[in-house]
Amino acid sequence: MRDFTLQKYESLLQAIKSTDYAVSTVHGFLETAPKKCIILRHDVDRAVNRNLEMAKLEYRYGIRSTYYFRHVEETFKPEAILQIANMGHEIGFHYEVMDKANGNPEKAIEIFKRELEDLRLITRGVTEIRTACMHGNPLKPWSNRDLWKKYDFRDFGIEGEPYFSIDYSKVFYLTDTGRTWADLKIRVKDTIDRPEANSRSKANARQGVNAGIERTGSGSDSCSGSDLRDTALAAAGVKDIASTDDVIRLVESQKLPRICLLVHPNRWCEDPGGWAKELVFQNIKNVGKAGIVWYRSRTRKKDAMTAGL
Ligand SMILES: [Zn+2]
Repeated sequence: MRDFTLQKYESLLQAIKSTDYAVSTVHGFLETAPKKCIILRHDVDRAVNRNLEMAKLEYRYGIRSTYYFRHVEETFKPEAILQIANMGHEIGFHYEVMDKANGNPEKAIEIFKRELEDLRLITRGVTEIRTACMHGNPLKPWSNRDLWKKYDFRDFGIEGEPYFSIDYSKVFYLTDTGRTWADLKIRVKDTIDRPEANSRSKANARQGVNAGIERTGSGSDSCSGSDLRDTALAAAGVKDIASTDDVIRLVESQKLPRICLLVHPNRWCEDPGGWAKELVFQNIKNVGKAGIVWYRSRTRKKDAMTAGL
């Protein structure tokens, strides 16, 4: 069976259901912090219909997850947002306002307010928007979450941001970014802040949260994250993780109490033509990102890590 198809995703859901992991939305996790759970998070970056298909599949298995919608024409589709909300999934805001404001936080916060209000208008009476998660863009020198160095998302009715509000030293984080589950160095901006970077965040200081696993860095000096990952995998008796079958084995081992899975539905498709296109597209992006990593590691020693590309 090919990987990154809905059929393969269904195998993953079946594996989860065969264990006693609770499946949690991001907001659900922040509210109840289950001791043993899988947080299931999706970034709706493009291809809304693939998101809809994944949402339906999860619904059939009685699974509720979180879908973060970008406010761009391709994904900001009220009908799809409402359909997914009506299945009981959490709807969140996948913001990229620093990109839209060219790195200017004062402009960015205005856009944030406006776009969040749009999403709330659409979902009014159906669900509430209680979490937001930044979108990653490897081509920009800033990160969208830099907004929270100056502002606090709680002032806008947002209770949590997965990059700040989840302690990844207690939650094992896996992403399909790059169309593999492997811990790629090519991820220019993936995952999680370093603790010291987090402590600079106003939102963070107020919440007293800490960051956790540093997994992918842009330079050669990122090793602590990989060590943590190796330790976690060894504890679970899993050698390495690259394919969805590896993730399934990790889940079935039930050795890790809390896992967060970031799945980009646009990368998972059934028809062979679309699947091959995704593969080629991702390979081009990976080559491009490797170049950016190389460039950045030469120009400045800064860990740049972000979300799903
Ligand atoms: Zn994204």
